[in-house]
Amino acid sequence: MLVKTILNRIHKHRGFVYGAIRLIEVLEELLVEAEIRPRSHSRPTCSGCGRQGPGYDMLGPRRFEFVPIWGIRVFFVYAMRRVDCVRCGVTVERVPWADGKSRLTTTYAWFLARWAKRMSWKEVADAFRTSWENVFRSVEMAVKWGREHMSLDGITAIGVDEIARQRGHRYLTLVYQIDEGRKRLLWIGPERTKSSLLAFFAWFGKERSSELRFICSDMWENYLAVVAAKASQAIHVLDRFHIMSHMSKAIDEVRAQEARSLKAKGLAILTHTRWLLLKRPEHLTDKQDVRLVELLQHNLRTVRAYLLKEHFQVFWFYLSPYWAGRFLDRWCTKAMRSRIEPMKKVARMLRGHRSLLLNWFRARGRISAVAVEGFNNKARVITKRAFGFRTYPAIEIALYHGLGDLPEPEFTHRFC
Ligand SMILES: [Zn+2]
Repeated sequence: MLVKTILNRIHKHRGFVYGAIRLIEVLEELLVEAEIRPRSHSRPTCSGCGRQGPGYDMLGPRRFEFVPIWGIRVFFVYAMRRVDCVRCGVTVERVPWADGKSRLTTTYAWFLARWAKRMSWKEVADAFRTSWENVFRSVEMAVKWGREHMSLDGITAIGVDEIARQRGHRYLTLVYQIDEGRKRLLWIGPERTKSSLLAFFAWFGKERSSELRFICSDMWENYLAVVAAKASQAIHVLDRFHIMSHMSKAIDEVRAQEARSLKAKGLAILTHTRWLLLKRPEHLTDKQDVRLVELLQHNLRTVRAYLLKEHFQVFWFYLSPYWAGRFLDRWCTKAMRSRIEPMKKVARMLRGHRSLLLNWFRARGRISAVAVEGFNNKARVITKRAFGFRTYPAIEIALYHGLGDLPEPEFTHRFC
């Protein structure tokens, strides 16, 4: 049968041969079963120590699911041998196409894991008529392998970020590599406390920490303290994404308050303006653009807060820290005189972190400035999707799989 020829070309294992290949029907489903036999006179490998030993006996046939062909599920059928190992006693043999007690072949697990990078776990399960659990296990295997084989060499810039794990206030701390040439998720820890970030540095190691040159983060005091203690040689940068999120939050607060008081007076000027004010102006549609121009005609606190924020964008384009510093001081004075409390709060915060803010200009061109924002957006999409399964390990695995740029083993054949 042709299937056997193909299997022998792309999926051959030393010490084993393919036997009969059958097309069968089980519960109205067509299945392909490929028998595997040990090559005659071959000795089984002990699953305890990995050494070959004399055979002890043979167990009943086990089925291992393999990559489907033409929408037909494929199973390997093999009767496992037991080994009489001098070191481990009687153990079940180790087979090259599957790990431990898994009912999926390793090749099929990698196949599912690869697809799970392109679409949701549920979609993968549906497309290949397998269970969500099987997809999850496969991704888990891929992440485990990738984490064990990833290289941590040459990391000079990292970004620390936090995202909400669920609606409500459970957070995760994420650490990204943000070197100009390489961007990926390095590490995830629960909460956003000092010990979250301390755990990262413990994992990362003293020597590598001492080679860090830039660290980006929010003005979160827990992170500032840990970075100062663990990588004091690095330039600590408060990045654009986090600063601008503080401004957006302030505007949102002003708008919500003002909208309420206007509504009480029967005015609806601020209704449905939330995204108008939060989106970058260049990302607005033509229609939204017209509405924004209209809105800006009004003398509202919200409008003044918005203009303050937009004016601040200039800050990021300065070249010299000196002139950027002058701009920052003038901006803060203006914000403090605005009599808009949320903006005053932002100004006070920026003043309190003036030198870290100006580090942005010292790191220019050495770190990927948009990386933290890009990762934050993707991480939010992945965790939102993962809300469905809620448990912490699953979210962690989904994030590493999607953003970790993890290595994969070399295969003789690429199935997808
Ligand atoms: Zn053994």
